[in-house]
Amino acid sequence: MILGDICTRGCRFCAIGKGKPVLLDPEEPRNVALSVKDLGLQHIVVTSVDRDDLPDGGSAHFAKTVFWIKSLNPGIRVEVLIPDFKGDESAVETVVRSGIDVLNHNVETVPRLYKKVRPGSVYQRSLDVLKAAKSIRAEVLTKSGLMLGVGEAMDEVMATLRDLREMKCDIVTIGQYLQPSTDQLPVERYVTPDEFQQLKADAQQLGFRHVESGPLVRSSYHAWSHVN
Ligand code: SF4
Repeated sequence: MILGDICTRGCRFCAIGKGKPVLLDPEEPRNVALSVKDLGLQHIVVTSVDRDDLPDGGSAHFAKTVFWIKSLNPGIRVEVLIPDFKGDESAVETVVRSGIDVLNHNVETVPRLYKKVRPGSVYQRSLDVLKAAKSIRAEVLTKSGLMLGVGEAMDEVMATLRDLREMKCDIVTIGQYLQPSTDQLPVERYVTPDEFQQLKADAQQLGFRHVESGPLVRSSYHAWSHVN
């Protein structure tokens, strides 16, 4: 996770620290790449906090990090899990053109629950990030994710999956929300393994290239296998 550990948003499911972020570390992109090299990784997922305080949302820092990772680790595949950059398409373009293999932006939940779950984010804006990525570089794989158990209905989940496919989203992850601490939203419901299996089948029918759906699925679950 780059761009610091303080987020400028306040998603109600997330335990990351919120508040005034620190200055960017200009050495971070190269240091991340050196760590990747030390670990001998073949696939990496790079994510970040939201940095709404920065004019470019941190997109150039993302691009520098990808540049250094690719430069020091030939053959590595890089997935980025990015913020919505407040809908700034040029920031999305900076990341998409940095040499990434997969661009992930999670919608997280169904549109009706955005105010409760993701205040400060906009459902259509998140869809537009995915749409923009595909239109900028058609060959880049796009990916999104949903967490269930925060009050959504199954027909709303299906409608959201259809919206993602309309944006030509290639990969989707669907998992169970778990409450990190009593400060975050409570779990409304535990979705059964059978329901996750049914959703997987339904999402595959919609044409997703890869679907991960299960109680323990998280955004980076089996991420390496989606680009093989
Ligand atoms: S934008 Fe990301 S890091 Fe920030 S609060 Fe929301 S989920 Fe957490």
